Amino acid sequence: ELPCTVRSFCEAAGVAVPDLMKTLMGMGMMLNINADIDLETAELVATELGVDIELKASETLEDELITQIEEHEDEAESLVARAPIVTFLGHVDHGKTSLLDNLIGINVVKGEAGGITQHIRAYKVPKGDRAVTFVDTPGHEAFTEMRARGANVTDIAVLVVAADDGIMPQTEEAISHAKAANVPIVVALNKIDLEGVDANRVMTQLTEHQLTPSEWGGDVEVVRTSATTGEGMDELLETLLTIAELNEYSANPKRSALGVCLESEQHGDRGVVAKVVVQNGTLRVGDILVCGPAHGRVRAMKDTLTGKAIKEAGPSTPVSLFGLDKPPGAGDRFHVLSDITQAREIAGSRDDESSRQSLSGITTKVSFDNFQEM
Ligand code: GDP
Ligand code: MG
Repeated sequence: ELPCTVRSFCEAAGVAVPDLMKTLMGMGMMLNINADIDLETAELVATELGVDIELKASETLEDELITQIEEHEDEAESLVARAPIVTFLGHVDHGKTSLLDNLIGINVVKGEAGGITQHIRAYKVPKGDRAVTFVDTPGHEAFTEMRARGANVTDIAVLVVAADDGIMPQTEEAISHAKAANVPIVVALNKIDLEGVDANRVMTQLTEHQLTPSEWGGDVEVVRTSATTGEGMDELLETLLTIAELNEYSANPKRSALGVCLESEQHGDRGVVAKVVVQNGTLRVGDILVCGPAHGRVRAMKDTLTGKAIKEAGPSTPVSLFGLDKPPGAGDRFHVLSDITQAREIAGSRDDESSRQSLSGITTKVSFDNFQEM
């Protein structure tokens, strides 16, 4: 029932493309090499050309392998706790980037063009013997887009609400995105250091949005924070770790890695740099990857926080990865394969797919001018 293309039909059936085209034309069909042919047509053409076909086509290889990897169930005894992946959501300027800066002890906001976050940042922040992985996105569009592409990287959403502004239109959007993603929501009631802010007003607004604070008898933790003074930052981390413990986020560090690309860029001299998050398994230098239309062998990895070269990255670890042949898109999942030829084939079939789609204007490729903190 899967559609196959003129090209994949010819490859699979060992038929020359012009021969197939001719046959198709004889049946009144003018198709280009990347066009889909349906099952019925494929069978007719096969009879016409006298070839025996079993319609599995090129997508089968991808489907079977990738489904196998995705659906591989980790045995309970191989599972260990992993850091929760936390995404900051909220209205622009309410302090998402500042909170993350405070947590990692740097100041990126100051260096941002117009104070607007251009890049997805992701760091694993240690806290005692545990850790929390934070993702700061340029806007919730990135969050939505990734989710739309089946890449649910977020375990917990931190809804950042500035105490002076309260709930704004983008806060409302963020709330509905977080609810749609069905992840726990923690509210960071930020800029609490500002003179004359009224926390109760925001708590009322939250309640009106079905986010009743726990101190008002609801189930939403509201942490008063200030990215400026550092107030509440420890409490925020503790709250996140408590939620993580309750939800028992776990992964199997012994399996081969799978995860998601957050963003990527083509560098002149260094080749493709992809920021990815390992969701399960351990990613190692030397691994063969396929990620969306890209493939390659991991040449090097850098910790996104320290910038240090690392040889392996376990579950919930964001890394900058070198070695892919082209920049994958935001939300493209990656898988480790044992065979580079297979990886090339799978990536190639997806590339055909995406170039076909972009011809008809469906695919939008994400690209970035420069890469922060590499
Ligand atoms: P984002 O758009 O949500 O990432 O917001 P930013 O982190 O870029 O912050 C927007 C502005 O608010 C910046 O000028 C920050 O310095 C300021 N800001 C962020 N957090 C706080 C806070 O807790 N208190 C105060 N007074 N200002 C803050
Ligand atoms: Mg920001």
